[in-house]
Amino acid sequence: MLSFDIELQNRLTAIREAGLFRELRQVDSPQGTRMEIAGRTFLNFSSNDYLGLANHPALKEAAIKAVEKFGAGAGASRLICGSLAPFHELEEILADFKGTEAALSFSTGYAAAIGTITALIGKDDIIIVDKLVHACVVDAARLCRATLRIFGHNDLNELEDILKWAQKAQSPESGVQNQRQPRVLIVTESVFSMDGDAAPLQEIVALKEKYGAWLMVDEAHATGLYGDNRRGLAEELGVSDRIEIQMGTLGKALGASGGYICGSRVLIDFLINRARSFIFSTAPVPAAAAAATAAIALVKSPEGQSRLEQLNARVSELHSVLRTLHSAFHSAITPVILGEESRAVAVAAALREQNIFVPAIRYPTVARGSARLRITLTASHTAAEVRQLVESLEPCFRTFPDCCAASRL
Ligand SMILES: *Cc1c(COP(=O)(O)O)cnc(C)c1O
Repeated sequence: MLSFDIELQNRLTAIREAGLFRELRQVDSPQGTRMEIAGRTFLNFSSNDYLGLANHPALKEAAIKAVEKFGAGAGASRLICGSLAPFHELEEILADFKGTEAALSFSTGYAAAIGTITALIGKDDIIIVDKLVHACVVDAARLCRATLRIFGHNDLNELEDILKWAQKAQSPESGVQNQRQPRVLIVTESVFSMDGDAAPLQEIVALKEKYGAWLMVDEAHATGLYGDNRRGLAEELGVSDRIEIQMGTLGKALGASGGYICGSRVLIDFLINRARSFIFSTAPVPAAAAAATAAIALVKSPEGQSRLEQLNARVSELHSVLRTLHSAFHSAITPVILGEESRAVAVAAALREQNIFVPAIRYPTVARGSARLRITLTASHTAAEVRQLVESLEPCFRTFPDCCAASRL
């Protein structure tokens, strides 16, 4: 074995010993409530395909038509020659859907966060993030080299303290004359990916206005699911037009693939000029854009409405049985926090024995010692399937009565 491989092998052993080893499981079926792994069919509670659109005929047809008309690949970055019509159509429908002046699509939500944050702020600026923001925001915050400050999850007092500190850093006495003021950017999620709880967006908006900061909200787990027009939690809370940068993904409730930024025309023009993950990357396949466009139309349709009602009914059914840390908030994501990594892995394995697939989420996705099952529901689940899940969880609750965040009512 090469010394290179020996070193990596040793590092992998350490990962394994910590109960943190991960491996891919090949799935031989489309995304859906049933999925096939190694010849066995599992009831799937792991997907972010909240509205059951990933395998929807309307999305598949749109993707196929785009392949037929525009081919399989985009050929280049959008700025070189790959700015195919399906991306423009998507961005028009996205801006209309979100009620913003303009929109820009990226190859992934991850790329949207990295490109946008590093374009907007730099080493002389300040970025303030919620402790539980997604890895893409953490990575972007490091990459942009701004001073990073983290506030406790949804802790408005701590956020305000940091904003006061940032204001001092902005005061004329603190800096060299003629030096520009640091920009201050706050970033939070609206619905949190691993906890399924919600940010107090109205209060955060009030704070950022009070202190003259900018706000970026990642609606990855809320787009298509909240608000009268399904724009997200910002719409539901009536603050969409007070948020400078609205981010999301096309790969979760919208069932396709890609990321987006919505906001003012000038923001989008700026990103086209400065977002490196947009500029220096081949455009996504046109089929992905076409599928996302079809998904937005579907979300707004009566069928979209009834799918959302289905999802909400399933969430209510699950929450009526499980008392969770955040059950006050209605979301498709329900964590069952078990603490130790090995516990979460063992419970997930026991569920798989019963042909139920629920992922064990561990460090580094969540903090050490807060390993959990992450149950996600979709519009395609039936009430009977939710009951089956709850019954299969019974032994877990008996064995770990202290599993803090969720217990049988
Ligand atoms: C999934 C996710 C992303 C990344 O989006 P992709 O399109 O999957 O790259 C960003 N933020 C949050 C909160 C997410 O859950």
